[in-house]
Amino acid sequence: MARRPRLHEFRLIEQLRRSFGRTGSAVIRGIGDDAAVVMPPKGRQLVLTTDLLVEGVHFDLGTASLKEVGYKAAVANLSDIAAMGARPEYALVSIAIPASWTAPRVLRLYQGMREAFRPYRVALIGGDTSSSPRGLFLSLTVTGSVPAGAALMRSGARAGDLLYVTGTLGDSLAGLVLLSHNRRRHAAPAMSSSDRRFLIDRHRRPIALPRLGRALSAGRLASAAIDLSDGLSGDLHHLCEQSSVGAEVAAASLPLSPSLQAYARASKSDPVTLALRGGEDYELLFTVPPAKRRALQRMARRAGRRLTCIGVIRPKAFGVRLRDTSGRLRRLAVTSYAHFRDVVPE
Ligand code: ADP
Ligand code: MG
Repeated sequence: MARRPRLHEFRLIEQLRRSFGRTGSAVIRGIGDDAAVVMPPKGRQLVLTTDLLVEGVHFDLGTASLKEVGYKAAVANLSDIAAMGARPEYALVSIAIPASWTAPRVLRLYQGMREAFRPYRVALIGGDTSSSPRGLFLSLTVTGSVPAGAALMRSGARAGDLLYVTGTLGDSLAGLVLLSHNRRRHAAPAMSSSDRRFLIDRHRRPIALPRLGRALSAGRLASAAIDLSDGLSGDLHHLCEQSSVGAEVAAASLPLSPSLQAYARASKSDPVTLALRGGEDYELLFTVPPAKRRALQRMARRAGRRLTCIGVIRPKAFGVRLRDTSGRLRRLAVTSYAHFRDVVPE
């Protein structure tokens, strides 16, 4: 039997540099020195975000491929940059790798990241490498920039602003539940394979929206924004707290994909509950002053994106409430979870 090639830190870094260390003209020094050096973009402010993923907490290599883990880690960061209305630019990657790993496994992680970064020309300019006594740790830092003063904050919403979301909600959560059915060989809900595939794909290959985020900040179309990583109910509460406002959401307006509706029928679950709870959709939730509504609609047509008005911002004293499908107004409880495993049926 061939001996497994041992992972050699410096050889690995050299390989990462050759395969992934693409640099632009603004990169004075990328991978290979003590630190990276880049030209600051003229007249712009820097936007920086980081995310830590821990095997067994945020992902499980029994169900997700390494490429998928890398891809989703990159999307989570790109989505944060998108929610700030910024342009993503550079990435730094820190990994702690179990001793048994080979270099090709590490490279697969990076291939997933590259796939997510490529459309935005995000350049890998550095990182750090360590061995891990238990499981994989992956920490990604992505930087970007916005024109000075243009960053979209969570804190800009005002009473009277309209509340919008991009895309459809709850698909990723339904996809995750379907995957866990497969894994446990549970009887799957009776639904078409194309609906099933759509939902699983939404879970495995979410798409961040940095271009849409930039369109929202350009022309000040949005007054506030947040990305939907934890689920609408929780993320809306974050936005309302930061802005010191309340909100009224109409359950009947929540955008639901036909596949999610098919899943809800087949599994006898409530699609509105899924939409409020579901995380990892990486859609954007944002507020728009009523005077900007027309301009927003024009932008959405140009961008070919589905934007849905799901409610309105209210004064803080109103609280965060849901008008349910029978017309009753009730408090909107936080049902979203940071970690999906909590809602996957055993
Ligand atoms: P130092 O000991 O000074 O931190 P390293 O040997 O850790 O230097 O890193 C050398 C170069 O390789 C640096 O440019 C660093 O950013 C880069 N690097 C190290 N690990 C990674 C990684 N996992 N991914 C990308 N770049 C890395
Ligand atoms: Mg180092």
